[in-house]
Amino acid sequence: MKIDLRKIYRFEAISHPAGAELPTGGDIYYECVECTHVVSSVPHIVSHCECGNLHGKGGKVDIKDQAKVKPVRGKLK
Ligand SMILES: [Zn+2]
Repeated sequence: MKIDLRKIYRFEAISHPAGAELPTGGDIYYECVECTHVVSSVPHIVSHCECGNLHGKGGKVDIKDQAKVKPVRGKLK
């Protein structure tokens, strides 16, 4: 199932030191730098980005390359 979260949320970049663990939370999302797709940091439905870097389900996201992930905060439009 594919949902374009950008239609629902406005995303703001979170300052995040390189190499540090990514933040998680109900309002935190991960933007894939490779394909620009956005995935929830606590996905309750199976979700993945276009290029396969991010795979989420069961409240967790598997990340292949963390260097290509940008954490963002989502606010309802
Ligand atoms: Zn991607």
